[in-house]
Amino acid sequence: MPRSFALNLLTWYNKHKRDLPWRRTKDPYHIWVSEIMLQQTTVNAVIPYYQGWIKTYPTVFDLARAPLQKVLKSWQGLGYYNRAKNLHKAAAIVASNYQGQLPQEAHLVRHLPGFGPYTTGSVLSIAYDKPLVIIDANVRRLVMRLLAVKARADTRQDKTIEHFLNKVLPSQRAGDFNQALMEIGALVCRHKEPLCSLCPLKKFCKAYALGLQEIIPTPQKKIIQDIHGVIAIIERQGKYLIQKRPSSGLLADLWEFPGGKIKPGENKTRALARELKEELNVELKRVKHLFDLKHFYTQFRVNLSVFACQLKSYPAAQTKKKWVKSSDFAQYPMPSGSAKIVDRLFNPSPSGFRMTLGARNSKKLATKSQKT
Ligand code: SF4
Repeated sequence: MPRSFALNLLTWYNKHKRDLPWRRTKDPYHIWVSEIMLQQTTVNAVIPYYQGWIKTYPTVFDLARAPLQKVLKSWQGLGYYNRAKNLHKAAAIVASNYQGQLPQEAHLVRHLPGFGPYTTGSVLSIAYDKPLVIIDANVRRLVMRLLAVKARADTRQDKTIEHFLNKVLPSQRAGDFNQALMEIGALVCRHKEPLCSLCPLKKFCKAYALGLQEIIPTPQKKIIQDIHGVIAIIERQGKYLIQKRPSSGLLADLWEFPGGKIKPGENKTRALARELKEELNVELKRVKHLFDLKHFYTQFRVNLSVFACQLKSYPAAQTKKKWVKSSDFAQYPMPSGSAKIVDRLFNPSPSGFRMTLGARNSKKLATKSQKT
């Protein structure tokens, strides 16, 4: 079984693999970048980020030399900014300790920031053909079906999955083997409606033999939490106030507009006034609702109400608070919610309209629409 399993898998992969930019290179650094990005989002979403990244930072040395703010800006929209920070830190170590060449030894690579078991296995197997197996969500679901494991797809299954994968891993082409499993998981053994008739592994698949492929893994109930927040757009003399988030925790070191969560029992204006007092120690004078928008994360949905705000007095710029011209926002890495707001305000669609805050503060803010 191990030989014919790998043979069927690799034959299918040779014929059906997608032509992706990171599959046209053997450069370990390029493969490493692609693997980190692919942990964030879908293949199609990664392609433009990967191409832009390799153009901006073609070598480990280019990435190591780049300022962190620029690196975070390049990453903007991919989420999980710690991964970009770790990539940047690890590039500096590889540049200074390994002459820019990612080591081939797993024990050395595991010491680099951002290299857990998955990243180590994927990068070393694809770049250097090291015989390491990897488990991502697609591989986990696929193997659970192959073995007919009736349970939820979570890390508790990984010991069984790893044991199976080590039995069927071929002595050569470990990188292709791993990519083939992920490719089949993504394209054939899909989460919903797996395409068993097209699957090169169906003769090895217990779930298929038992007709259980639609109910393995056991479905999980997704609990999506709703979060409501207010955002203040504070403009003065053609510049807008943004502030830097703390250097640790969620969305660390990114820049955003002032604002925060609405507390239970608070209305939006009160929440806005409280947040501005807490964050900037300023009093709200006048406020105008601009638009609402929604932003989705894995576990929660953020509903943001965006307001143009006039203040009784305006805070001065400091290291972590800046007054920025709209044309300079491109230099500041922002969480997706704030980036969407910048887009709505300053890059309106042709059907968009402009909105004024009031007579005294006559600078106009452009918005697309009041609807989300
Ligand atoms: S036969 Fe169906 S359930 Fe089994 S591995 Fe292939 S696609 Fe998945």
